[in-house]
Amino acid sequence: MDATKYIWSDGKLVPWSEAKVHVLTHSLHYGSAVFEGIRAYQCSDGSSAVFRLKDHAQRLINSGKIIRMEIPYTAEQLSEAIVETLKANGMHDAYIRPLSFVGYGEMGVYPGNNPVQTIIAAWSWGAYLGAEALEKGIRVKTSSFARSHVNTSMSKAKAAGNYINSILAKIEAKEDGYDEAIMLDTNGFVSEATGENVFIVRNGIIKTTPWTSILGGITRDSIMTLARDLGYTVEEQQFTRDEFYIADEAFFTGTAAELTPIRELDRRQIGAGHAGPVTKHLQQEFFKIVKGENPKYAAWLAHYSV
Ligand SMILES: *Cc1c(COP(=O)(O)O)cnc(C)c1O
Repeated sequence: MDATKYIWSDGKLVPWSEAKVHVLTHSLHYGSAVFEGIRAYQCSDGSSAVFRLKDHAQRLINSGKIIRMEIPYTAEQLSEAIVETLKANGMHDAYIRPLSFVGYGEMGVYPGNNPVQTIIAAWSWGAYLGAEALEKGIRVKTSSFARSHVNTSMSKAKAAGNYINSILAKIEAKEDGYDEAIMLDTNGFVSEATGENVFIVRNGIIKTTPWTSILGGITRDSIMTLARDLGYTVEEQQFTRDEFYIADEAFFTGTAAELTPIRELDRRQIGAGHAGPVTKHLQQEFFKIVKGENPKYAAWLAHYSV
């Protein structure tokens, strides 16, 4: 990752190399932090826009609420700070990482009166799973690690601590020669990937996991809305890994992964072994939307100029 100029830190723009914390920061020890991943895209008309900015800002606040961390900003204030960060760094497109964490103070698990701190960083990040992946699709495996039970980890919070589960699955998948992992829930149904939601297409119907053990992805929501608007049937329904094996198409959604086709699961080729027609259609329309080429979804874009 290449450094940019400034990181926003509770209202101040701090030079990148000076944005530091103490090693006894509570969150560093216990994972008590929540974060966001947001993208800004350069639009076809030359302006730039943050995709679903307010929704991401609100989700950060909601994640904090779930883990009992009160973030002292409104969604409006966070949105303004994000745009301020992009402008200060002169960025036309970016991956944006807001993070709220419990700072220095008490060392016990109980966070006590330790300060809740918020930072916003932005950097350039191309296709998360590789540029080729967006076109050709990726190879994935079912993880030996299950997604946490809904009463174990609060999966609707985008919380740092939840990510140990994802890191274990990701390392296993990578070291076994795959690009990404599919995680099952504790009942054995397909849940999601390590930082992406999952969709399959079978007999013309698009299916995605219900909002149970998964993080409610904003890309997932965008794709469900888009697909229904395009006339596809979309179902939020549990499905198993063997239904996945016989899907005609499959893909991941996420801010980092955007819309990445899946061409293989557990050594079974999915459909034709490359991005299928529904996947391609949704991917094309999604990229048009984020670049401001579809006025129907103008409300999803927060335009700014650098
Ligand atoms: C962030 C994340 C996603 C994708 O959410 P988006 O809002 O689409 O970026 C999916 N699963 C997990 C576990 C995540 O942390």
